Amino acid sequence: MKPKASPSVSRLRDIPSIDALMRRSSTTALLDRFDRATVLEAIRSWAGSIRIEINNGRSFQTKEDLLKKFDEGIASAVAGVGRASLRSVINATGVIIHTNLGRAPLAEEAVEAILRVGRGYSNLEYDLVKGGRGIRHVHCEALLRELLGCEAAVVVNNNAAAVLLVLNTLADGGEVIISRGELVEIGGSFRIPEIMAKSGAILREVGTTNRTRCADYEAAIDGKTRLILRVHQSNFKMSGFTERPSVEDLIALAHGHGLQIFEDLGSGCLVDLAPWGLAEEPIVSKSIVAGIDVCAFSGDKLLGGPQAGIIAGRRELVEAIRRNPWMRVVRPDKLGFAALEATLRIYRHHRQEIDLPVIQMVSLPAEEVRARARSLVRRVNKGLALPFDWSIVPGYSTTGGGTAPDSRIPTYVLHLSHSSLSAMECERAARSHEPPIITRIEDNRLALDLRTVKQSEEAFIVSCLRGLAAG
Ligand SMILES: *Cc1c(COP(=O)(O)O)cnc(C)c1O
Repeated sequence: MKPKASPSVSRLRDIPSIDALMRRSSTTALLDRFDRATVLEAIRSWAGSIRIEINNGRSFQTKEDLLKKFDEGIASAVAGVGRASLRSVINATGVIIHTNLGRAPLAEEAVEAILRVGRGYSNLEYDLVKGGRGIRHVHCEALLRELLGCEAAVVVNNNAAAVLLVLNTLADGGEVIISRGELVEIGGSFRIPEIMAKSGAILREVGTTNRTRCADYEAAIDGKTRLILRVHQSNFKMSGFTERPSVEDLIALAHGHGLQIFEDLGSGCLVDLAPWGLAEEPIVSKSIVAGIDVCAFSGDKLLGGPQAGIIAGRRELVEAIRRNPWMRVVRPDKLGFAALEATLRIYRHHRQEIDLPVIQMVSLPAEEVRARARSLVRRVNKGLALPFDWSIVPGYSTTGGGTAPDSRIPTYVLHLSHSSLSAMECERAARSHEPPIITRIEDNRLALDLRTVKQSEEAFIVSCLRGLAAG
């Protein structure tokens, strides 16, 4: 006789009780490793999510289906109880400013500043000399003026906000001239033409994708022109038959016509990184010295600090920007100021080496990465019956984060292959640790670039890989 099909689960009272779920073997197996309260919390939250689905009109074919779903998911749900959604991970990809992994890791000094300011009250908007209300924008300005050589500076939440704010302040209702070669998209959602439209400025594109000359800009200047915009191409590079005016020539053209010029520098490179293969990255102070009226750049790309947008330039323009009502919408919080100030101080105090994680990673010699990879694989394989098959191959680390697309920082990549697991299975296993280890797959092998891994994280990687090899 055919077993009677169990009815579908479509009403709240069809959901198995918490008690029944607690008695399932998939649950009892977990009680060795987790306390009862944790398991109970995961089950309650699972039942709650099913209730929401049913309330939203969803039903499950059979009760068995539903229980199967429960049995499959409960272990990871229990493991996830109390765990933060935003977690730290180990970055073994070799992509230094990995946007998906939170961009620049902060210097210890910046982390300490966040702790100090975050724990209690601060003089964020309090003038300690006058004993009354102060302004938050003073906190990084003196440092920025000193480091960049600009008259004034102001910090906002990120560079996208900076660009929007500058365009809205200086060009709302007027035309902004930009080369067709610079109408870039950064990271999917930041597109120059869209930001321009939202700012109220009218885009006046000139030249062609690959070649724009000063004369193209000049021909577009008329009574409606308010601003010339120059954008660092950041995440793409053109080669071959290309032409772009120098920043000096463009400044001379703008000023010759009584116009202002604004440069979106993207990455916020404060020091010359050409010796490490980053010759294409524009240095902020060079634009200021050349006479740019205003520029904007990110705090968490090559600058190596927290998420921020920095606007620097001539005093009266920066003051107008600061008075824009949008300023209130895009202002940074105290933690951002704390971390940015601490990061900028490192630039001010440096002698030879700049002790910032991003700069250290960019300048780490490939031979050192290779030596660390060799030592790591030795520790992983030591005494194992079925050690990983491995090789250390020359390759390139990248800066990522929409910076220096052509940058190729020579490195060595550790390739590992497991006797029975596929590269994809190894990648997934590495990612399921706490903290997760983010790796890549190359040539069907697990690939680790230790340039972006802290030395203090290596022991953890070793123990995870040994666990994987032991099965
Ligand atoms: C990255 C980038 C932006 C956006 O900066 P965020 O700090 O990510 O908001 C804008 N313009 C350029 C040229 C960039 O490279």
